Amino acid sequence: MKQHPLKTERSQVSSSTGGITWDVLIAGGGPAGAAAGLHAARLGLKALIIEKDRHPRFHIGESMLPQTSRALRRLGIEPLIQALPHVPKYGASFALGNETSLQDFEFRTGLIPEDSRTLSIERAPFDKVLLNSAAAAGASVMEGHRIRRIHRLEAGRVELVLASPEGPDITVRGDHLLDASGQGTLVGHHLRTRRTLPDFKRVAFFNHFTGVARRPGVKGGYPLAVMCDEGWFWLIPLNEEKTSIGFVMNGRDAKRIPVDYPHALDWLIQKCPLVREQTREALSPETNRVTADFSYSCRPFAGPGFFLLGDAATFIDPIFSTGVCMGLMSALKAVDLLAGARAGRCSWPSAYREYDRYISSSSSAFFDLAHLYYRHAFRELFLAGTGPLQIHRAVISLLTGNVFPRPCWAIRWRVELFKLFVRLQPFFPLASRRPRFALLDAG
Ligand SMILES: Cc1cc2nc3c(=O)[nH]c(=O)nc-3n(C[C@H](O)[C@H](O)[C@H](O)COP(=O)(O)OP(=O)(O)OC[C@H]3O[C@@H](n4cnc5c(N)ncnc54)[C@H](O)[C@@H]3O)c2cc1C
Repeated sequence: MKQHPLKTERSQVSSSTGGITWDVLIAGGGPAGAAAGLHAARLGLKALIIEKDRHPRFHIGESMLPQTSRALRRLGIEPLIQALPHVPKYGASFALGNETSLQDFEFRTGLIPEDSRTLSIERAPFDKVLLNSAAAAGASVMEGHRIRRIHRLEAGRVELVLASPEGPDITVRGDHLLDASGQGTLVGHHLRTRRTLPDFKRVAFFNHFTGVARRPGVKGGYPLAVMCDEGWFWLIPLNEEKTSIGFVMNGRDAKRIPVDYPHALDWLIQKCPLVREQTREALSPETNRVTADFSYSCRPFAGPGFFLLGDAATFIDPIFSTGVCMGLMSALKAVDLLAGARAGRCSWPSAYREYDRYISSSSSAFFDLAHLYYRHAFRELFLAGTGPLQIHRAVISLLTGNVFPRPCWAIRWRVELFKLFVRLQPFFPLASRRPRFALLDAG
């Protein structure tokens, strides 16, 4: 395995970065940054990952897609992840909050035959294993160092100023910046390209619970999405004891919750018959976590001196568990293009263009569905669980993460037809009508 002169113990790199110019500076050591560092180091690039926190640390984003597992396999670390406590995931369930029946979707019934297994897992150990793997492959890692600002951002000349916990600020230099700073959107802020999406002003309340009811067998591992007019709950089994529960809603409705945000989740659960029933015996910390305003896009996704990876590029909505998948896939693609351009196999402008296209065409397939998901008509059709022309199987394939570099034609035309059905459903019922469930108005 190639070792670089500055690769010492993690977090001891800081005092010695002085004169070196890195091939790639990577902002953030979450899944996207760690995967980029791992892949870059394997390709022989001198990579420095800068992470403000110290792993293991809590992070939201615990349910994976089959495509996420394929990316982990490509990175060569799937066995390390499988060795951590986790719950195998072969599908997902959806339901309305005022109903008792669940609609199950099995990945293996997707239109495109492929691996149908993935997992749900706590992010703290998952992210730590990824970052350790990057270091083991030869990437240098500085934890506990926050990137204070970008001093220079040009192709071949990038300078970052880091806040050091041990003393004065440090400047690090590199040829390119891979921005994997997540919701921090370092480059998006620097270039002022971060645009929040007006229809998606969302808030999420979440917590880890023990003692949540589960079904027997493999379906006990399915994440459950429970839908209400104002938003939706997730219930994600993480290991034998823990279940992650959260509620995503729009910010306007959140203002109508009569308790303070750190106590909102319990209040919301008590309002929803299905989730209340599942959590009858459950325990959780007294206060929940909160995050807001997580839907935005920072276009262009690449340009002179930078590539935006994972959440640093764009994030819309957690409904289809696409975040970590986008993080890993974008990291692999950005590093491949960067290595290709450095080796003269393509020009830099064409590498930037191809990357921008890759992110927009893969993510837009997810985002279109995420938009529709909040319509009751979508839910009526989706919960029907079946439909003509194998449309549901195409939607399932999309939800396994089969969107790279873009969904194939067999999926695309069916999903377009599905979108048309969603528009028609309010006028001509193509699937059975279901009563709406307004959680905030429930008794
Ligand atoms: C409510 C909610 C639920 C979600 N559920 C899921 C799910 O079930 N499945 C799923 O796949 N995704 C989910 N996501 C999305 C998922 O959390 C993210 O898409 C995923 O973590 C993106 O990975 P990343 O590496 O791009 O960013 P992150 O995981 O956020 O990593 C970014 C890293 O950069 C570091 N950083 C930030 N700024 C700086 C700085 N200035 N200097 C140094 N370091 C910095 C941070 O500390 C962090 O470690 C969810 C998101 C939300 C909001």
